[in-house]
Amino acid sequence: MPVEGRNNVVYEKAECPQPDWTLSARKNITVLSPDQETVFSFDLEGRPVSWYRDDRIYKRSLASRIHTRQRLGGRRVRAVLPEEDAAESYRLLLEQIASASIPTSSKDDHHRLQRILAWTPERLLDEKHRFNKVYRPVSILPPDQYLAVVLQATFGCTWNRCTFCSFYQDREFSCRTIDEFEDHCAGVKQFLGEGLKLRRSIFLADGNALVLSRDRLFPIMETAAELFPGLPVHGFVDVFSGERRTAAEWSELRELGLERVHVGLETGSDALLAWLNKPGSAEESFGFVSTLKEAGLKVALIFMVGAGGRQFAAAHRETTVALAERLPLQKGDIVYLSPFQPDAAGAYQTEASDSGIEPFTDEEIDREFTVLQDRIRQAAPGPIVTRYDIREFLY
Ligand code: SF4
Repeated sequence: MPVEGRNNVVYEKAECPQPDWTLSARKNITVLSPDQETVFSFDLEGRPVSWYRDDRIYKRSLASRIHTRQRLGGRRVRAVLPEEDAAESYRLLLEQIASASIPTSSKDDHHRLQRILAWTPERLLDEKHRFNKVYRPVSILPPDQYLAVVLQATFGCTWNRCTFCSFYQDREFSCRTIDEFEDHCAGVKQFLGEGLKLRRSIFLADGNALVLSRDRLFPIMETAAELFPGLPVHGFVDVFSGERRTAAEWSELRELGLERVHVGLETGSDALLAWLNKPGSAEESFGFVSTLKEAGLKVALIFMVGAGGRQFAAAHRETTVALAERLPLQKGDIVYLSPFQPDAAGAYQTEASDSGIEPFTDEEIDREFTVLQDRIRQAAPGPIVTRYDIREFLY
């Protein structure tokens, strides 16, 4: 059965079709294939990364939570397994591998297989405690960063008042000292072990770590580059906090390893942005993205699909396409379209019901997504224009 994998190496098809199990020793991952089209992948510590059973894709987070996905009635159904079900899934996986005949043609192959089989369901579940020793909650990442090394330089968001965003409601904005950040980096490095080789970048968390002053941010960037050499740095920033920096300073950050800046623009409509209680405007978004591009940085711009319901739909669609058309986007940039997922208990729902906003159905959001994607692709042919489903976030 073909395995989907838009942003994740672990779902590539096995490279060497064989009638029986094969082991593929790649430089950053071990892939076991029970047949020509199925892959089970493991990091170089032998911890499962993803596997497949009974029409379901299983993905393991670093805290050993298991996220599953399957197609039912034409729709994607996602779940996070309760701990006892996760333990059972690990047991079935490890038993399947232990009972299989898997040829190993080198010492390295043998060593990799032994590493996988050295794990038990209990040890895997216990990774949650190791994770919690080095990380505070990681609330969200952009889809191209699920295989990053997350480094928590700050916590929370400096604004934290957009009605639609509840990612950081549980924490005040704060910043680690450089000593604390160094300790955190050392802890993360030890926790990942050889699994670090699977990681492609650094993501500087939380919500807008890139807002820090030069005196604080530059040493953090230098420490990250020293402890995780060769990994490009990514991070979120919002327009109203990011625009305080000049193009020259963004360019210095690029020289320190910053590769891509992820910006939640949300919409091209000033009226919708104000209704969502997010500071900024389309003009400011244009100015800020232009500054980042002038500094030679890549950008990932996030627009929501369906926010503001039917009342804002036409204005949101037209202004968003018009903004995307004006922006100096190139190949290597990304435009994310994120189907809106309101938090049932959040401020957005209260505002929406007070304002008589009629929400879109899931099917209508899917249709809006397709229209926006097609129109932005035509208006801005350089960047990738793709889906950002926050329900699929995994770290
Ligand atoms: S959307 Fe961005 S600025 Fe608004 S609360 Fe969330 S993290 Fe903060």
